[in-house]
Amino acid sequence: MIIYLDMDGVCCDFIGGVSRLFKFESLYEAWPVGVWDVSQRMGIPKQKFHDKVEEAGADFWANLEEYEHFKALNSMLAGYGRVVFLTSPGDWIGAPSGKLIWLQDRFGKLFSDWIFTQHKDLVHKSDAILIDDSSDNCALFPNSVLFPQPWNSNLWRRMDRVEYVKEEVERLLNDADKECY
Ligand SMILES: [Mg+2]
Repeated sequence: MIIYLDMDGVCCDFIGGVSRLFKFESLYEAWPVGVWDVSQRMGIPKQKFHDKVEEAGADFWANLEEYEHFKALNSMLAGYGRVVFLTSPGDWIGAPSGKLIWLQDRFGKLFSDWIFTQHKDLVHKSDAILIDDSSDNCALFPNSVLFPQPWNSNLWRRMDRVEYVKEEVERLLNDADKECY
C-alpha cells in the first residue's frame, strides 16, 4: 500500500510562510468559506503574489514550519503503508530544491520517498491513497482523503485532523476488503 502525502497545507504551513513573507497577521482566522486561492484571500494580485514567493527562493520552501500534527500524522500513516510525499512545486523555480531540503532536514540526505509533479494524476495507482488538502487533487484519485483545512469542505474536522484521516483510511481499507469478496 502506497500513501501519497501532500506537503503544503497538510505537512507544512504554506499559509504561515506566506503570512510572514507578506507581513499579514492570522490569515487562518475568518478564512472565507469556499476560497481556495491564498492571493485572493489576501487581496493581492496573482502575479504579485507569485513574484514575491519566487523572489524568496528555495529558502521560503525549506523554512516552512511543519504543522503541529505532522509527526503524529506521518507516523500514523506509516502504520498503514509506505508514505511517499507527493507535492506540486507549481512553477516556482525555488520550490523543488526548497521542498527537498525540507524533507532532507527531517528524514536525512538519502531520503527518496518523494515525487514532485504538477500532474498528480499521472502517478495514480489503484491501491494508493492520496491525502491532500485540495478537493481537485482528491478528485483525481479513486481513494483519497481531503485533509481538513479552512479552505476546503472538511473544515469542520480541522480540530481533530489526524483522527479524521485515520478514520477515513480505515474506511477506505475496509471498503477495499469488501470488494475482494
Ligand atoms: Mg496542498
